[in-house]
Amino acid sequence: MAPPIDAEIVIIGGGAVGCGVAYQLALAGMSDVLLLEKENSVATATTSQAAGLVGQVRSTAERVALAKWSVETFTQLQQDPQANPSWRQVGSLRVALTDERVDEFKRLARVASDAALEVHFLENAEAERLWPALNFERARAVLHCPTDGYLQPYDLTMAYVKKCRALGVRIETSTEVLDIDQHEGRITGVQTNRGPIACRTVINAAGAHAYQIAGMVGLELPIVPVRHEFLITVGCDGMDPQLPVVRIPDGSIYLRSEVGALLLGGWESGALDADPRTYGSTVPPLEADYDAMAFFVEQLAPLFPRIEELGIRSIFKGWPTFTPDGRFIVGESRRVRGFVMAGGCNAHGVSGSAGIGRHVLESMQKTDPSPYVRSLSPDRFLDHAWNWDQARRQARQLYESYYGIDS
Ligand SMILES: Cc1cc2nc3c(=O)[nH]c(=O)nc-3n(C[C@H](O)[C@H](O)[C@H](O)COP(=O)(O)OP(=O)(O)OC[C@H]3O[C@@H](n4cnc5c(N)ncnc54)[C@H](O)[C@@H]3O)c2cc1C
Repeated sequence: MAPPIDAEIVIIGGGAVGCGVAYQLALAGMSDVLLLEKENSVATATTSQAAGLVGQVRSTAERVALAKWSVETFTQLQQDPQANPSWRQVGSLRVALTDERVDEFKRLARVASDAALEVHFLENAEAERLWPALNFERARAVLHCPTDGYLQPYDLTMAYVKKCRALGVRIETSTEVLDIDQHEGRITGVQTNRGPIACRTVINAAGAHAYQIAGMVGLELPIVPVRHEFLITVGCDGMDPQLPVVRIPDGSIYLRSEVGALLLGGWESGALDADPRTYGSTVPPLEADYDAMAFFVEQLAPLFPRIEELGIRSIFKGWPTFTPDGRFIVGESRRVRGFVMAGGCNAHGVSGSAGIGRHVLESMQKTDPSPYVRSLSPDRFLDHAWNWDQARRQARQLYESYYGIDS
């Protein structure tokens, strides 16, 4: 097929974020949108490795609102016979093992209540009824969010693609953006392996390559990939797909059922980051870290001793990106008109994809976006000095303290 030659808006990257952004733009009536993905299919990079957890209990009202928006979108997509993100609204249990954590849960519950998100504390016996294989004896508190859940990241991305195509968005795979053209500080097009494409707006949703894409327009942004992994056990009795997602922040772990087995992941110390200045179009290869897996197992064992006997069926791993302040980078930079960021997802780009899409849309449509959306602007890293050593250290710290109190 002949390569495309122009579009109003080009989105770079066909992961959950790029496709989620395309969907929100299309819903808003912007149909001259072209999404370019360098691989021969969408959702083959970080998105393909994600656990698909969708959690709305967050430390600020804005973050709760973004997560709620995503849940609303997943629910609508799930009800649409043309789109099936495999969204299961099974709820979530957040288990506190210390008194400090109980206090944090109370603060989280207040934020949730202010943001009209239903959460409540459960008696341990009630938690055990919802997750019979787990021993809740050590739990000091269990916070339940009935509208949380999980989905299959590939299915979500394909659901976005299906809806986008129906709304007129063009999606071209095997099309790599090699450079970005600008004239007098304004985007004019992109150069690809299949030729040039004229456009007025470029949206950077290139995941672990977002740093390189920003570099094509002369912007240096601290988007730091940090390795993340989880394991799936061999088949395990009692792993009903309707079991709630469980987070045990004092053990730095999360778990859920996955096709008759247990999925277990977490945030180990000694985080491994990659310096994006050192690689080009291929991210550094990743080996499974069995010490990290042993740490997750050790943390879960007191509540679920059977984990120590279960073999590992597979390990998923990838390079989600972190920013030094732990916030997304969303919106246009005033330094290059028409260059819009949708990255720095801090390991929740799948669950955040619909909300990020909405924020990108707001940043593009409104001359005066909300203070929160403005606070996500890439310009916060362009107007102030920062350095790579510090940015990488902060990214690793954010990873290691992902389930830290009030993080
Ligand atoms: C083990 C693991 C578990 C995770 N669990 C969760 C979870 O439970 N919930 C959650 O919300 N998140 C989770 N995440 C994080 C989540 O996977 C990421 O935040 C999300 O996938 C980022 O999506 P993305 O679209 O930005 O990036 P990607 O999926 O990496 O997509 C970027 C795309 O851009 C393309 N691209 C790059 N450069 C170019 C170019 N020059 N031209 C054209 N295309 C290009 C790439 O090929 C790629 O397909 C997890 C991550 C990992 C690794």
